[in-house]
Amino acid sequence: MIEVHHLTKRYGSTLAVDDVSFTVHPGRVTGFLGPNGAGKSTTIRSIVGLDRPTSGFATINGESFEDAAAPLHELGVLLDAGNRHPGRTARAHLRALAATHGIGDRRVDEVMELTGIDSVAGRRAGSFSLGMGQRLAIAGALLGDPQTLILDEPINGLDPDGVIWVRNLLKHLAAEGRTVFLSSHLMSEMAVTADHLIVIGRGRILADAPLQDVLARVEQSTVVVRTPEATALAHRLAGPGVTVTSTAADRLEVRGLEAADVAVSAMAGGIVLHELTTTTASLEDAYLAITHDALDYAASSLETAGR
Ligand code: ADP
Repeated sequence: MIEVHHLTKRYGSTLAVDDVSFTVHPGRVTGFLGPNGAGKSTTIRSIVGLDRPTSGFATINGESFEDAAAPLHELGVLLDAGNRHPGRTARAHLRALAATHGIGDRRVDEVMELTGIDSVAGRRAGSFSLGMGQRLAIAGALLGDPQTLILDEPINGLDPDGVIWVRNLLKHLAAEGRTVFLSSHLMSEMAVTADHLIVIGRGRILADAPLQDVLARVEQSTVVVRTPEATALAHRLAGPGVTVTSTAADRLEVRGLEAADVAVSAMAGGIVLHELTTTTASLEDAYLAITHDALDYAASSLETAGR
């Protein structure tokens, strides 16, 4: 279990994390979601003792991580996949890491097999693609067979196979009863990986709820209707709880009614319809609704923003 208590972190005049509190429970995948610059990495670095909070504190299984006698067994961390000696082979890199905790070569072989890098164990880590480097970093995080895993943007740079592999691995580790906490700015990935979401924007927690609840917040469908008599139809549809927006001369977007209601109303008025479709909110919509006031960047830059 990871517990964060009133964590605040300032960098000069930047308030990166603002009085953040949350608990990450074992047995499920918890996603830490927010736009770039929201404070995810700062929170994670503070949890693992790499950043000193301005105030507040975090514990892993009830203890400060800095006090852990054998940290690799307590917590597996993926922070910066590029953090390895480029001249060392993948195997040598993992063996060096393992040696700091008296972990044997057999476990090194095991994690290399688990992460699919056993066939390149003898290759220098410097020659690894981003995706292979990510797998190597995950192998390092798993070395101590930790009860808790924290991964900062673990799917960055992975090919589609790799993304599915990480997703399945994290679900599997959570199903074993481990605490799995991963950050991402990719809503689509969270939608299929996380069971629970903690959403952060401008250093503040905006939501801390099961994935389904976050989706339900905005899961109101929109009926799109095209008709040459848009104005007449809009008048017929108007009523309590109904919002009708005209998006073109012959196009309306209707919230608060089902497609069937719109069809019946049009027929009663003798209005011909050229199109009648329903769209449902996605996690992207939920996320944008939640982070609306907290975005550091315009929504359009979210799509392309890397880290
Ligand atoms: P995220 O991981 O969600 O992208 P970060 O935690 O990296 O967000 O950053 C949160 C805020 O803190 C941003 O405004 C960022 O510019 C700032 N920040 C992060 N690290 C530093 C640092 N070492 N020095 C100064 N500002 C920082």
